[in-house]
Amino acid sequence: MYDHYCLGYYDAFPPKSTNVAIETRENRKVVVVTKDVAAGEVIYKENPVVSALDADLQGSGKHCAHCFRIIQSPMSIELSEEFNPLSSTFCSKACLVANQSQSHNLLFTTESPLPAEISATPVTPTAIEARHKAQEKFIEYIKKEGRAAPILVARFIARQVALETSKMVEGGKKTTEKSDFTDAEGGEYLLADHIERLRYLEVKPPAEELPLLVEILQTALPGLEQFVTDERHATLLGKMAYNAYGVSFGGGRDDKPEPTTRPEDVEKTRTPYGTARQIGSAFYTLSSYLTHSCEPSARPSFSSGTTELHLIANRDLKKGDELTVAFVDVTKHEDESAVECRRRRRIELARGWRFACGCARCEEEGKELTPEEHKEQAGEEKDGSKVEASMSRFEEGEKNDQVE
Ligand SMILES: [Zn+2]
Ligand SMILES: [Zn+2]
Repeated sequence: MYDHYCLGYYDAFPPKSTNVAIETRENRKVVVVTKDVAAGEVIYKENPVVSALDADLQGSGKHCAHCFRIIQSPMSIELSEEFNPLSSTFCSKACLVANQSQSHNLLFTTESPLPAEISATPVTPTAIEARHKAQEKFIEYIKKEGRAAPILVARFIARQVALETSKMVEGGKKTTEKSDFTDAEGGEYLLADHIERLRYLEVKPPAEELPLLVEILQTALPGLEQFVTDERHATLLGKMAYNAYGVSFGGGRDDKPEPTTRPEDVEKTRTPYGTARQIGSAFYTLSSYLTHSCEPSARPSFSSGTTELHLIANRDLKKGDELTVAFVDVTKHEDESAVECRRRRRIELARGWRFACGCARCEEEGKELTPEEHKEQAGEEKDGSKVEASMSRFEEGEKNDQVE
């Protein structure tokens, strides 16, 4: 990588107020605390860039489509039927407005994607009709798919457009669209700068997906489709797959429908409570840098009852200590042995993130395995990470550093 460029970025990101810094240790980026922290303390709080409720909760009226807050019925706000293809409900006017300006207007309405100050071009009825058609096709697709990734990617691109067009208005000084996610200090960096440094999985998107997105952007404003090329679309999907967190309240829910796809095809998110217990997925600029450990030094918590992630210390930490979280449920269940627990979590990690865990707990517990068990587990992990030959883990600049 280019040293002075990176140095500049990681000086400004994350902001000092988060109490953490990103450092390179043993050739990988890790998050470290910049002060002593006591067990149970909140290290930082972070809002997501984009989020998506689980498919069964979209349109259910149970959670705010923007912040995931549980809806108290008299408070709910709905959009007019015409502009509410996902039947979204919102907990407050603020969430509704944020959702509209961040992504809804571009993806699901025929309003101009440009701020009023610079959208002088008159729009023809034919153009509006084309835009409407493109949106309908995309909505049909995401409903059929039931996956979070295409929604996260579409919202990410829409948010990028919203942030960059609002910078045009303000002459590059300030954004009218508030960046509530963790941004670099000084505001010199774009959303693209944040995401380009993150790890991703190499994925092969369904062939029909990109043309649908391109059509939405192109009909909204010719030229916008430049935001998604084939390569960029695949990379964005891979970034969401690798980095998104599962949001759950109070340890998670029990009523999520059983997945109908093969276990290896089920979407996975980072959550110590298990993706099967989450209510939705969310993507964060800073927390994406947290690495996995089966004995994590910290945990994500959503104790404000929204997508705001609170990172909590699991033990007393000294300045400079590395922060890790569990991407999967690493607790030993009552009905399993230590060996079975090790095997379960390592298969999940291999399936979801394509790496063989090298944490101290895995190493220690690995010593108790017989040579046969070792061979068997390694084989299963390999199978897990090879279910789709096209999928592998990527880090910008360096390839597959933890994959065997
Ligand atoms: Zn809300
Ligand atoms: Zn481990």
